Amino acid sequence: MKPLNQHRELSQDFRMYLPHAEGWLAHVKTGWDKQYCYAKNPDEDFFHLIVNGEFYLQHGDEKYCLNCAMRQGILTTERLNWQTRQNRPH
Ligand SMILES: [Zn+2]
Repeated sequence: MKPLNQHRELSQDFRMYLPHAEGWLAHVKTGWDKQYCYAKNPDEDFFHLIVNGEFYLQHGDEKYCLNCAMRQGILTTERLNWQTRQNRPH
């Protein structure tokens, strides 16, 4: 394991946000039992696997890989999403 104080240059901002976080959980898939993303990739007619070590989100029984969550607007990379949201609290 790399020491925590060893720095790398980042080519992008990897932080992601759930604008509507209520009810969502973030997990890391552990083990090799088959677990499928609730959404499908574009041009695929099957549910793809979430693999060992992969980050994923869960809402009730629905599990989403981060790509599908991003594609469906569940996740955003916009840090100030709460400022641009239309239904922001007053
Ligand atoms: Zn997916």
